[in-house]
Amino acid sequence: MNLDDVLAEEEAINLAIDTAIYSYLQRRTKIYANIQVTDLVYCPRRAYFEKKYGKKHNSNDFSLIVGILIHDFMLQALAEELNADNEVLTVEVFNIDGDTVKVYAMCDLLTDKYVLELKTCGRLPNEPRDSHVMQLEAYLRFFDRDYGYLVYVNRNNGDRRIFKHIRSDEIYDEFKNRLDDFYVSLKYDRIPYYRNESLCKFGKRKCPFYDICYEGVM
Ligand code: SF4
Repeated sequence: MNLDDVLAEEEAINLAIDTAIYSYLQRRTKIYANIQVTDLVYCPRRAYFEKKYGKKHNSNDFSLIVGILIHDFMLQALAEELNADNEVLTVEVFNIDGDTVKVYAMCDLLTDKYVLELKTCGRLPNEPRDSHVMQLEAYLRFFDRDYGYLVYVNRNNGDRRIFKHIRSDEIYDEFKNRLDDFYVSLKYDRIPYYRNESLCKFGKRKCPFYDICYEGVM
């Protein structure tokens, strides 16, 4: 076997790994409704592009797979231990621009008293992330609970940090503003005003819509 053949085989193996990662994420991405809470709390602009052009993943999203697997495994165990329901789906109805708009939410864990959202991460944050707090805030409203918990678990060593969040009108008002903007953007096919620049290049992952977002190039 000459050097060119070896390189060709290595390239094929690399490509196969990229394809495996990409296709797993495509299959595993949960899209259960037109508008979901998660569309609004991360980058609404990215969510708009995903609805317009289809969801895209980067081939270097391998850590996402590890996170998803740990998340699913832990959710089931926590639901049993805490006597909670896991992955509970609900819908809230809003009136926007004269239309009835449904927004769907799936919380990780729901007990009689609180909502719990579980996040796996490579490094524990000192404070909960704003997007996660807004997500939990929306779930508190949708599931009619007064408080909830954001639980971060380090996927490398199992360390965890737990943050309690109590309802905040200010955060929910911003959520509703984002929803108004997002819905009207979808309806009239214009790019949403709200965006989250901290996610454009998050770690090693560049947003797959970066070029169209900043240059108008697809
Ligand atoms: S490039 Fe940044 S602002 Fe634009 S859609 Fe992606 S994450 Fe959002």
